[in-house]
Amino acid sequence: MSDPVRPLPWLEPRWQELVALADAGRLPHALLFSGPHGIGKPSLAEALIARTLCQAPGEVACGHCHACRMLAAGYHPDLMRVSPDEGKRQIRIDAIREINGFVSQTAQQGGYRVIVISPAEAMNVAASNALLKSLEEPGGRTLFLLLSDIPSHLLPTIRSRCQHWSLAVPGEAECLDWLTERLGGREEARFWWQAAGGLPLRALELAEPDSRALRQQLHETFDALVRGAEPVAEAARLDRQALDAILWYGIAWLEDLIRLGLSGESEALRNPDLLPLYRQAVKNGRVRDWFRLLDYAREQRRLLSAGGNPNPQLALEAWLVRWSALLRS
Ligand SMILES: [Zn+2]
Repeated sequence: MSDPVRPLPWLEPRWQELVALADAGRLPHALLFSGPHGIGKPSLAEALIARTLCQAPGEVACGHCHACRMLAAGYHPDLMRVSPDEGKRQIRIDAIREINGFVSQTAQQGGYRVIVISPAEAMNVAASNALLKSLEEPGGRTLFLLLSDIPSHLLPTIRSRCQHWSLAVPGEAECLDWLTERLGGREEARFWWQAAGGLPLRALELAEPDSRALRQQLHETFDALVRGAEPVAEAARLDRQALDAILWYGIAWLEDLIRLGLSGESEALRNPDLLPLYRQAVKNGRVRDWFRLLDYAREQRRLLSAGGNPNPQLALEAWLVRWSALLRS
């Protein structure tokens, strides 16, 4: 007997909509769940997978029928999960051919077949095109679940064949209890919730020891840059493997700086503990230049997720040189 699979609490309203559709027999055969990383898309998907395969579902999967036990044990013959291979970024056509074979057979347990593709934007063009026919005519009792952080990176032909469920960033009241339970205190929960831009699972990631240490180190780096330290020497101290996280922090701090520079208000800052550093930076830089740096950082992150960076050390140096130029001007 396993615990019934439930979605995270702030996704409960969306869950009720899905349950109502399923109970009315109107669940579409292809759903696209989108929303930023850290919003909890997998929890909604797992609850739906479990309920769809369950032989005696109530509001959620029962947790003790044969299907639920197979699923809890990690294998159900009518469920297929597709993600990039270990260490790879793309979902290739071979994986989609397997899906096409899978949907051409009948379900072994006599119920639904469920196919999960995550992240769906990892499908390359050939893979996407190979999926179209199955997505269009999957046969009866088939559910495609596509998960995507950045749905704009999907081919329009894929998007148009799915019912698109865009998940909204939850409000503080919807997730603060949940975070408080996990982070041990309300102040702590609030701090990381803010730093994560309202994304609860991202908040948990940021509060992990390694991530806290990186944040502290970056704080010191930028403090040093404001005081005129040499950016290339500072870059050598940072972990090149953390380039994506370093850019992510840079983007969050730039958004704070722009907010502070435009309005002068400090209440809405994501990182209020950095206010003294921000004040110094705002004195030296111009908002227009912060916007430019923000565009640069977003583009760097996009390139990184598309193909990796062949020289992360150089990318780190270039990043800090740009910051330094603004902070010293
Ligand atoms: Zn069950």
